[in-house]
Parts: sequence; C-alpha cells; structure tokens
Amino acid sequence: MTVGGMTNLSVTIIGGGIGGLALAHGLRRAGVRVGVYERTHERTDWLQGYRIHISPAGAHALHDCLPPPNWQEFLAAATSGGGFGFLTDRATALLAFDESEINRPGAPETDRHYGIGRIPLRAALLSGLDDSLRLGKTFIRYESADDRVTAHFADGTTATADVLIGADGANSAVRAQLLPHAHRVDTGVLTIAGRNPHAAALAPVLSARANIVIPRSRGSLFTAVESGQAIWGYSDAATRFPIDVTGYDGPALRTLVRSRIGSWSPAFHALIQESDPATINAFNVKSASPVTPWPTTRVTLLGDAIHNMTPMAGIGANTALRDAALLTRELTAAATPIAALHRYEAAMLDYGFQAVRRSLRNARQSATSSYLGRAAFRSTLRATAAIPPIRHAMARALGR
Ligand SMILES: Cc1cc2nc3c(=O)[nH]c(=O)nc-3n(C[C@H](O)[C@H](O)[C@H](O)COP(=O)(O)OP(=O)(O)OC[C@H]3O[C@@H](n4cnc5c(N)ncnc54)[C@H](O)[C@@H]3O)c2cc1C
Repeated sequence: MTVGGMTNLSVTIIGGGIGGLALAHGLRRAGVRVGVYERTHERTDWLQGYRIHISPAGAHALHDCLPPPNWQEFLAAATSGGGFGFLTDRATALLAFDESEINRPGAPETDRHYGIGRIPLRAALLSGLDDSLRLGKTFIRYESADDRVTAHFADGTTATADVLIGADGANSAVRAQLLPHAHRVDTGVLTIAGRNPHAAALAPVLSARANIVIPRSRGSLFTAVESGQAIWGYSDAATRFPIDVTGYDGPALRTLVRSRIGSWSPAFHALIQESDPATINAFNVKSASPVTPWPTTRVTLLGDAIHNMTPMAGIGANTALRDAALLTRELTAAATPIAALHRYEAAMLDYGFQAVRRSLRNARQSATSSYLGRAAFRSTLRATAAIPPIRHAMARALGR
C-alpha cells in the first residue's frame, strides 16, 4: 500500500486517549499500519465520568477520522450540546443561550455542538481497534536509528515504526524526551470539583443547561448535567485559599466551598451539599507554556502532550481531535514523514497555542479577576444579551 509518496508507512502512537484513538482510526482508514500503546491495563481504567463538550470543529475532525460505524456510535451516544448560560450568584441570567441558538436547526451533523460522557466517547473511539491497541504498555523512552523509531516500554518490550506520535497527555513522557525545555506552568487558579448524582432534584436553571456563575466578589462556579448527574467546579485564585487544600478530603472540601459561596442562591448550596463526597477533589490548574518550533524529526506530539490547556474554554479535546485529523491528512498526502510532520507542527503550534491562550484568559477572567474586572465582564455579558446581532455572533462562536 502506498500512502502519499510513502510505501508501507508504519506509525506508533503512545497513548490511547481521545486524540490518540482518533488518530489511529484516521491512519488505519488511509492504509497506514498503526500500533497504539496505552499504559492502563483495562479499557475501563481510563474512563473518568465527566462530560465533554464536542464543538463543530471537534465533530468535523471526529467525522474525518472515524469509520462510519464509529461515527454513528458517537452520534447515538451524544446528546445535543444543550443550552449555556452565565449566571449571577443569585442564579439569575446575565446571558443565556438555549439549545436552538447554539445549534442552528437543520445544521449538518458535523456542524453541531454535542455533549457526551467520557465513557461513551471512549467506547465509540475504541470500537474496531482491537488489533491495533496494546494495553498495559507504559512508554519509557524512544531511540531513533536508520529512519526508524523504537519505543521502549516499562515491561521491557519495544515497538519500532517509521514515525512515533506522543499522544500521552498532559504529563507526556514523549514530550519530556523530545522537548525537555517544554513545561506546564501553574496558572494560579485552584479548582474544587465534584458530582451530584441527583440532577433532577436541582433548580431548573441548573438541570436545564451548562452554566458559569460569575459572582460580584470572587471565584466562579461551572455547572453541567450529564446522564442524570450534575458536575460542578468551583475556581478561585489559589492565593485566596487560606492554606493548600489539595490534600483535603471530600467532606472538608464540600464544607470549604459552601463557606466560600456563603450568600449565594440556595440552588448552588443544594448542588454542592448533595454531592457525593467521594467525587470531590481539588487541583491546581496548569497550562502549557509557549513552545517555539523545533527541528522536525520522526517523533512529534499531539493533544495535551503539547498544548495542554485549562478546562475553562472546553476546547482541549476538540483541539486534540483537530490534531488527529490534520496529522492524518498530512501523513497520507506528503512525500516523506519529515515533510508531513513539519507541515503538521507548523499549523498545530499556531492554532494549539491560540487555544491555550484563550483557555488561560477564560480561567483568569472568570475565576481570578478583580472586583472591577468582573464588574466589567458582567456588564459586557448583559450588553451582549441585549443586542441580538452580538448575541447571535457569540452563540455561534461558543466553544469553537
Ligand atoms: C474537568 C475537565 C473538563 C474538560 N472538558 C472538556 C470539554 O468539555 N471539551 C474539550 O474539548 N476538552 C475538555 N477537557 C480537556 C480534555 O479532557 C483534554 O484536552 C483531552 O482529554 C486531551 O486528549 P489527549 O488525547 O491529548 O490526552 P488524554 O485524553 O489525556 O489521553 C492520554 C492517554 O495517554 C496515556 N498515557 C499517559 N502516559 C503514558 C505512557 N507513559 N505510556 C503509555 N500511555 C500513556 C493515558 O493513560 C491516556 O489514556 C476537559 C478537561 C478537564 C480536566
């Protein structure tokens, strides 16, 4: 089989996450021999339960990569993106979009927003990959020789191919070797997140759509509903917490969040109070620092492995999917792997780090801005709500 100018191209993918699995499908469909090496042992190990928003850009990329049965599996499991709103701490809307404003009625399947749990998304990505997927393979290092790249795994085994793609997430071991100077930095934002299993019992404004609460004073709260569960994340500047709370247990974190949202609407207190303490955890939000182009080799990076970003714009997975679709196109069109990876890296660094910057701006704007900064943001949201052309433009731009 000849792919572009390349005969019998083989690719090793490190990491069977969202980006790595989408890439595996795309390359297999183009006739490339693919091995995906994933460190976890069981298919269910990787399945964290929270919801992912797939934007039209992500849907396009998924559609390009997936075989038709997998795409249908995705569509069957996904819900329409639902509405999205910005709320005051009294649970009134600063700006809210309902489903029909975000998803234009009659829009093509690939031009829509979707919500999907990580478990069904992974299931749709895993179907049909059995002969390419190797579980329980922890990547340690690679070595390059004679136009081939050999990956070494913790169990002593190796895999050799023409190209190696590091799709191994935010703490990428491939990145650590390829770009030892590339780091993630602490954004200064601390998030406490949890899940409430009784979404139906919540106030309608919380069960009907995803929201970001922008109070007058400090912090912010993200809320969304997926499969009958409400997911929430309370964020604020880490320096505004009295001590390091990342070691607190669930009940202590729940009490802490409630004390911080003291005068907020009872709707938010019910959301937090009825959450399962075992699901509540605190983490410092990190973000990739900018990376300048490097000399292209037969090893490259995709998704969070290169442009890890804060979750505050909901575009990390969508950007990883865009990488997978672009890399598939470049590897199947170019005359040599180096030419393909060079073109991919130039484009990916540009849009990938634009997404990083946008996610960081969102994190700071909603969670850590000053009293004056958030007053200005709230006024902008109210003005947007009142001016239909701006409102429609924003609805179309959400999550893109
Ligand atoms: C709370 C939260 C909400 C989010 N919501 C959204 C959203 O709504 N929309 C959106 O677009 N994005 C969202 N994101 C971001 C999104 O989850 C990530 O950007 C996305 O998962 C990145 O995909 P990936 O394939 O690059 O990495 P991952 O999905 O992290 O996959 C990496 C894989 O590599 C494996 N791996 C790691 N190290 C090794 C190794 N040494 N050897 C072998 N395998 C290894 C891991 O086990 C994992 O399976 C959210 C993130 C968070 C934290």
